[in-house]
Amino acid sequence: RKAAIKDAIKFAKEHNARMVDLKFMDFLGTWQHTSIPAHRLDEGLFEEGLGFDGSSLRGWQPIQASDMSLTPDPTTVRFDPFPTLPTVSFICDISDPITKQPYSRDPRNVARKAEAYLKSTGIADTAYFGPEAEFFVFDDIRFDVKPHASFYAVDSVEGAWNSGRDERPNLGYKPQLKGGYFPVPPLDRHNDLRAEMAVTLEECGIEVDVHHHEVASGGQCEIGIRFDTLVTMADKLQWFKYIVRNVAHRNNKAATFMPKPMPGDNGSGMHVHCSLWKDGQNLFAGDKYAGMSQTALSFIAGIVEHAPAIVAISNPTTNSYKRLVPGFEAPVKLAYSSRNRSAAVRIPIAVGNANARRIEFRTPDPSCNGYLAFAAILMAGLDGVERGLDPGAPMDKDIYNLPPEELAQIPSVPASLEEALQALADDHEFLLKGDVFTEDVIEGWIDYKFDNEIVPTRIHPTPLEYKLYFN
Ligand code: GLN
Ligand code: MG
Ligand code: MG
Ligand code: MG
Repeated sequence: RKAAIKDAIKFAKEHNARMVDLKFMDFLGTWQHTSIPAHRLDEGLFEEGLGFDGSSLRGWQPIQASDMSLTPDPTTVRFDPFPTLPTVSFICDISDPITKQPYSRDPRNVARKAEAYLKSTGIADTAYFGPEAEFFVFDDIRFDVKPHASFYAVDSVEGAWNSGRDERPNLGYKPQLKGGYFPVPPLDRHNDLRAEMAVTLEECGIEVDVHHHEVASGGQCEIGIRFDTLVTMADKLQWFKYIVRNVAHRNNKAATFMPKPMPGDNGSGMHVHCSLWKDGQNLFAGDKYAGMSQTALSFIAGIVEHAPAIVAISNPTTNSYKRLVPGFEAPVKLAYSSRNRSAAVRIPIAVGNANARRIEFRTPDPSCNGYLAFAAILMAGLDGVERGLDPGAPMDKDIYNLPPEELAQIPSVPASLEEALQALADDHEFLLKGDVFTEDVIEGWIDYKFDNEIVPTRIHPTPLEYKLYFN
């Protein structure tokens, strides 16, 4: 750690930093930050941390115990390309300033404990995660002037609403509903924007695999980034969202990771690729179904068994469940398959390359908190491995077109956030192992979601209700 601190301070000097930005993940999945002048960056900061008031942050401390401390992780130093003055940035861990104990509701702390738990089981020493966070780009929308925006989407044929305004004259080249994947420009009107995002990601040290338009008409995008270990990947995912949003914003666009902004068109998923490794060997490669090992199959069985509870964390918004419906490439049924994109768990083909053997859990969406979601997925899969579960037979048919009797046999994902939270309340022993999630985290999560999202959504009239009932 001493060496990492020295390197971080040197990095700040080399980049002529004027400010140091301290970022941290809140409970729900939004980055928060506070900044200090660069001359205050010294070794002491990494030891003593910086105090802040935790009571104003959603889902954290009550007001009577609100003092908390931020400690920058020296290994997370990066140059932040968005502030006007040269700024280096750290991701911080949260602790109690008196006891110095890590804060149990700090998502990064949960993720660190999940990695430690994995090692303690002896099953594997490393878990790799590769999330594909899809997102929409709109023209800057002022929600207050278009409260009924979803009307336009309900009836739109050409996705004209996607541009965020009524275009006169109509300039054409607009993808049809579900027509975004993936003709060249001018139909793909976000090519330059994605390229700028991709280059900025790489300048920040986040390696890009590929970028492309996604299936939903005008504006759905995907930028693939290279897999990494759990905590580091969750850190990178937050940089990813930050860069995507800020590059959009400086181009007078708005990027959103909301899972289902457009009724009638595909939503945004965040498929999570995952594999376990030990001593440099991929434990998922084997001679079972689709070139997988028994460990991989048991891991899949754990995910499928606990999926109703996991989705309370990996699909954590009321809007998430508007994506998980048939017909939009989002999984609805809890089955697994090689290649079948209508199953919750897919095994991508990795011809001849044992190191690339992995699973793809397709249910999560990008509204989740990456630290908590990756930790929950890992804990569910590990539970399957520890109990030697078997996932049963794969489902290689198109699930969307199964006869109703066959379809009814396959369990479904929860239909709403409320159902998912109930499933989490009923099934979370697997998350408590190794003290990774605590009862307090689970309870805090369920209560927060219920009081601040489910109840308000239930009592708030929506644009669709005007369409249905106004007259
Ligand atoms: N957008 C789809 C989803 O909701 C995925 C599309 C794809 O990547 N094939 O998961
Ligand atoms: Mg992809
Ligand atoms: Mg995709
Ligand atoms: Mg995918």
